[in-house]
Amino acid sequence: MFPLRTLALGALLLPLAAYANDPYSYAQPDEVRVSHLDLKLRVDFPHRQLDGQATLTLDWKDPKATSLVLDTRDLNIASVEAVDAQGKTAALQYTLASRDKQLGSKMVIQTPQRPHEVRIVYTTSPDASGLQWLPPAQTADKKQPFMFSQSESIHARSWVPLQDSPAIRFTYDAHVTAPQDARVAMSAPNDPKHALNGDFSFHQTHPIPSYLLAIAAGDLAVKETGPRSAVYAEPSVAAKAAHEFEDTEKMIDTAEKLYGPYRWGRYDILVLPPSFPYGGMENPNMTFATPTVLVGDKSLVSLVAHELAHSWSGNLVTAASWRDIWLNEGVTTYVQGRITEVLYGKRQADEEALLDIHTLQKEVGTMPANTQRLAPKPGGVDADDSLSDVAYNKGSWFLRTLEQRFGRDTFDNYLKGYFNHFAFQSITTEQMLDYLKPNLIDKYPGKMSWDEVKDWVYGTGIPKDAPIPDSPRFDAIDKERSAFLAGTLTADKLDAKGWNTQEWMYFLDRLPDVPSLDKMQAIDAAWHLTGTPNAEIGMRWYVHAIAAGDKAVWPAAAEHMTRIGRLYLTMPVYVALSKTPEGLAFAEQVYAKAKDGYHPLTQQAVQALFAKAKTSKH
Ligand SMILES: [Zn+2]
Repeated sequence: MFPLRTLALGALLLPLAAYANDPYSYAQPDEVRVSHLDLKLRVDFPHRQLDGQATLTLDWKDPKATSLVLDTRDLNIASVEAVDAQGKTAALQYTLASRDKQLGSKMVIQTPQRPHEVRIVYTTSPDASGLQWLPPAQTADKKQPFMFSQSESIHARSWVPLQDSPAIRFTYDAHVTAPQDARVAMSAPNDPKHALNGDFSFHQTHPIPSYLLAIAAGDLAVKETGPRSAVYAEPSVAAKAAHEFEDTEKMIDTAEKLYGPYRWGRYDILVLPPSFPYGGMENPNMTFATPTVLVGDKSLVSLVAHELAHSWSGNLVTAASWRDIWLNEGVTTYVQGRITEVLYGKRQADEEALLDIHTLQKEVGTMPANTQRLAPKPGGVDADDSLSDVAYNKGSWFLRTLEQRFGRDTFDNYLKGYFNHFAFQSITTEQMLDYLKPNLIDKYPGKMSWDEVKDWVYGTGIPKDAPIPDSPRFDAIDKERSAFLAGTLTADKLDAKGWNTQEWMYFLDRLPDVPSLDKMQAIDAAWHLTGTPNAEIGMRWYVHAIAAGDKAVWPAAAEHMTRIGRLYLTMPVYVALSKTPEGLAFAEQVYAKAKDGYHPLTQQAVQALFAKAKTSKH
């Protein structure tokens, strides 16, 4: 996923009960593992549901096992049957436990014969946590409904009954029917020339973990951007998206030169409606992306570099549990930087790294000690909340430190070897460390001690000698900002004409939390930030202008909040408004109009903020 920042997505806490395996899954992979999934689904827009069946091929590990335990959430189960090698079926007994708030309903199927396959006929709930159903009004083109999934972290179980743990990998086939005018896309090779006939088939031949199961359906046009890449988007968005993402093939080439062949075949990008709560999701073969990166100048396409990088770090070599998620996100953020450097230059790559570093430095001290660790101790961290700045930014900082100590060539070779060694496996932090020690740390002695490695991985905070990239342009911006705040430089004399998106982000990020009103008005008069279509700049601008008490920006801030459902770009504006009673009342009005266009995750986050603002005294 692309950075969420440290927004708590749910107030759900991990139950203290320790499970034998992944604490976020009821599955018992020591007894049996799903090796293949066969899905037959119908997309039912009027009822906001998927209905059909999932057939699980089982690899029995324990010859005495008598049950198959699956993860489900809010599924309506119609029947469960065993399927033998000849295709003969026999009904199976099963129980569905009452719903746990975080984990869903444990499903126990009695399987004393340890069948080769189990088939479950079911329907999803209209409120499935992993699916979003948009009426036409909430799409860009407002003509047809749209549906998309977001399975990470533990939401696949709300649309497929399965073993929902990243430690378990399976191949899948899917046959999906939909209305004639809808195009269906999944996290498997997609045919860009597929006719609109309401009948789609997919074959994911590489074993993937459940959080990478993905589906979308709606009014999607396809524009090819290279021999193995295309953009899928609503018709009015497709041309703009194809332009923004025209470097995709170059990105794939760059990543291949660094880390070995792209092993998945096609790499396509699906641009979702604005309600997508994340930046991007690395669904295999088909990245799901937010439309907020379509700013016209490619300044935010490092999001694609990030999702593409997951084709190595995450999708190929996968964190075995949510506790190990830095193996996905930290390594990916590092690889993203390397791709950005080749395509857009060291200046932009260093600037992006610095923005990440500053975000982490600001946040890390306020986080509970355990969540400051790359590999936290067990317990107490929600599966969604594990995707924090620490996993992304401290993780990538650790890898940049390794690169600096061992030299780029040595480290590149090491990382390529790591991806090959663990290809199509799910691994723990400790397995990664067991590989790191002989293949890098001990192989090139004197560069980094094992204690330093352990401090990065298991320590709190940030190691003292963590290297920080130089950025003469950021240094110059620091000087300009200081002079402007001191009153020795007027806003119109800021040397901002050539600032890229990252440089504006940096200038705004480091303004005082509550700047003076006249300073904010002067910036706006000179640089017209109110109403900017660039949501990264807009979010930072509105937060500071609102804090300064500039009510003139409220209508444009409301437009930003309504247009953008991405959590990280919309929540901070809600937070800024909710600091005064009048602002809170305005935020509630905006939310009442905007909420139908938001993903449930965004709705939950805003509602939790309002509840908290009301209980605290203004
Ligand atoms: Zn990611």
